[in-house]
Amino acid sequence: MKEDKCIFCRIANGEIPSATVYEDDQFRAILDMGPASKGHTLILPKEHFKDVCELKEAYASKVLSLGGRIGAAMKKSLGCSGFNLVQNNGESAGQTVFHFHLHVIPRYDGEAPIVTWKPGSPTQEELQETAKRIHAEL
Ligand code: 5GP
Ligand code: ZN
Repeated sequence: MKEDKCIFCRIANGEIPSATVYEDDQFRAILDMGPASKGHTLILPKEHFKDVCELKEAYASKVLSLGGRIGAAMKKSLGCSGFNLVQNNGESAGQTVFHFHLHVIPRYDGEAPIVTWKPGSPTQEELQETAKRIHAEL
């Protein structure tokens, strides 16, 4: 994706209007147009990075605390009781827009959790073997 064609580059840099929750020199946080719940926000870096693996340290070191600040503000302003920080990398992980973004998704009492999985049951040997394989590439 060329950066001049990337929708999130254009939104982050103000070329396309958005419902902006927060802005500084590095980030714009906007409301998602297809929200999982009221207030669902996307934090977009103003520079183009495909995913978290490309994200520069100058952004990576700030994005998590910004997610926490926005989540805390949602609790005060919208009355949610919790929030999920979700960040998808790759098609298999559900990424549909290939410009890094962190979802901040308010959760309200009575709603079912949105991030769930059926727990597997690996053996200790399988866990050790898998850990070794990942570690070898770090
Ligand atoms: P992903 O699946 O890549 O993690 O999330 C992409 C998110 O971006 C989706 O939740 C989708 O609703 C949202 N989205 C896609 N295009 C636009 C857009 O043009 N404007 C806004 N505000 N949200 C968008
Ligand atoms: Zn982009």
